[in-house]
Amino acid sequence: MNYYDVVVVGAGGAGLRAAIEASLDPTIRVAVVSKVYPTRSHTGAAQGGINAALGNVIPDDSPDSHAFDTIKGSDFLADQEAVFFMCENAPEIIYELDRWGVPFSRLPDGRIAQRPFGGASFPRTVFSADRTGHVILHTLFEQALARENIHFYNEYFLLDIIHDGNRVKGVALYDIKNGEVVNLRAKAVILATGGFARIYWKRSTNAIGNTGDGVAAALRAGLSLKDMEFIQFHPTGLAKTGILLSEACRGEGGYLLNALGERFMQRYAPEKMELAPRDMVSRAIEYEIREGRGVGEGTSAYVYLDLRHLGEEKIKERLPQVRQLAIDFEGVDPVKDLVPIRPTAHYCMGGIHVVNYRTSGTELEGLYAVGECACVSVHGANRLGGNSLTEILVFGKFCGIAAREYAKQVDWLPLTEGEERRAQEFIEGLMKREGTEKLAEVRKRMGDITWEKVGIFRDEKSLKSAYEELGELLERWERIPVVDKSKVFNTNLVELLELRNMLELARVVAFSALHRKESRGGHMREDYPNRDDKNFLKHTLVRKVGDRLELEYIPVNIVKYEPAQRSY
Ligand SMILES: Cc1cc2nc3c(=O)[nH]c(=O)nc-3n(C[C@H](O)[C@H](O)[C@H](O)COP(=O)(O)OP(=O)(O)OC[C@H]3O[C@@H](n4cnc5c(N)ncnc54)[C@H](O)[C@@H]3O)c2cc1C
Repeated sequence: MNYYDVVVVGAGGAGLRAAIEASLDPTIRVAVVSKVYPTRSHTGAAQGGINAALGNVIPDDSPDSHAFDTIKGSDFLADQEAVFFMCENAPEIIYELDRWGVPFSRLPDGRIAQRPFGGASFPRTVFSADRTGHVILHTLFEQALARENIHFYNEYFLLDIIHDGNRVKGVALYDIKNGEVVNLRAKAVILATGGFARIYWKRSTNAIGNTGDGVAAALRAGLSLKDMEFIQFHPTGLAKTGILLSEACRGEGGYLLNALGERFMQRYAPEKMELAPRDMVSRAIEYEIREGRGVGEGTSAYVYLDLRHLGEEKIKERLPQVRQLAIDFEGVDPVKDLVPIRPTAHYCMGGIHVVNYRTSGTELEGLYAVGECACVSVHGANRLGGNSLTEILVFGKFCGIAAREYAKQVDWLPLTEGEERRAQEFIEGLMKREGTEKLAEVRKRMGDITWEKVGIFRDEKSLKSAYEELGELLERWERIPVVDKSKVFNTNLVELLELRNMLELARVVAFSALHRKESRGGHMREDYPNRDDKNFLKHTLVRKVGDRLELEYIPVNIVKYEPAQRSY
């Protein structure tokens, strides 16, 4: 029976945490939909850790200090009540995970260990070596599997949200295993489909599947996307591949060196040095390369991460995965070699506009958005490392409660005949489509445009041209045929669907960035190099009306910390 009280789309940390909470009432039927097997969700790739002010290393830490660091890190664009809510609820989330069986690394006295992370005033990042996301995801999956009222739809692809303009009715799915289209009816739908940093196809830390399908579905459903111009570039991507080496490398004491062997962060953040926030460190690396102090030139240039002084024992205990990645993908062993690194696209601060941080409710009744696909906003213009896992679990929990309680009060809405058939007809149309464009070519071009024109540095000219060319690529997308006609695991069709989503979102990113004429956090306009609180201390909202994008701004929620200059 395809009727559920709550349908959760996404089985990463956000989706599973929400599903567990929604299922606490045994009369509530919950479905969890995922295009990959749940334990392959990107949460499993998180390395460095999760922030909570436990004060286990330095007792002076507090949720208020965590909130202040988060707000300052956000370049004052975060909504402060939401930040306080997250930071106050974070410790309980950690203890809950501990009780559920997450094997956190420990202090000698047995309490949960915490390491320093970028932009943080205290060591507050809880971790499990450098596989924190992996152990959290697996533990949540076990907890969800144990609940009889959670039903998994693994390897089903969300096509669209079904709604009547006011309220959600369900979701249309494509079963990757056999090519069937299925409509799930729902009283409440939670989108937890993760981020879209794969729009930077050329260079990204993200899983291949982080294509923003849920965010694009929300855009097509007429919802607003918030602060999409803010993309985080992580300083330490492996030079050749862009694969992530966790911020834990610097948290444990690693250095960044230029070609002259200088710890160049001295020039940019003399106090925090390598542990300045990511936006600053990424730009610092690029400035060094521009000024000729990198190794090599152009796109293949890099600087070094130096871990050698940490010693073999510490590297093997605290950073085993980092070491293996460096050996496998760069051919160097951090125990004795310098590691070539350069910034890489990593995280999306923006996403589906959440209108109520306590419930994660959106503009559409019965539809919730949580995790990296959502913008609450607690990260503002720049997220601090370790705060995403905190966000997905805190808001995941409260969103699960809200969806469950909402579902108890309403009934299912009937589907019209058109709604019943729409997704089926869409897939049939795609399968029959003829044309001469090639999927890989259009996708590669998108990756070049986003990296070169909507990257770490931006200006009016680059953004305008990116916006226009991405629009042309969307037209070219209409002429890409599905060459593989099979029904079983048709990855050709799935990649085509993902490409449309990425193109739609990349265009919104360029559009939002074009109109924000200032520099703040991860958004660096070379033609407007300063932060401009007078005109731009506000959130960007973009929605799609027909084929046009419409822009609106809403105020930032400031309750305690007035915007100040951001220095580290
Ligand atoms: C390499 C890496 C390391 C990181 N390290 C850290 C860290 O140490 N600390 C930290 O705080 N943050 C870290 N982050 C960020 C953090 O891991 C993510 O922001 C977070 O895990 C996102 O969780 P999520 O549940 O929102 O989405 P995800 O874990 O990405 O899950 C998305 C889910 O949605 C499903 N889905 C997507 N599209 C569809 C569709 N069309 N149909 C059906 N299902 C769909 C997927 O199958 C998946 O189950 C890291 C990120 C990366 C990439």
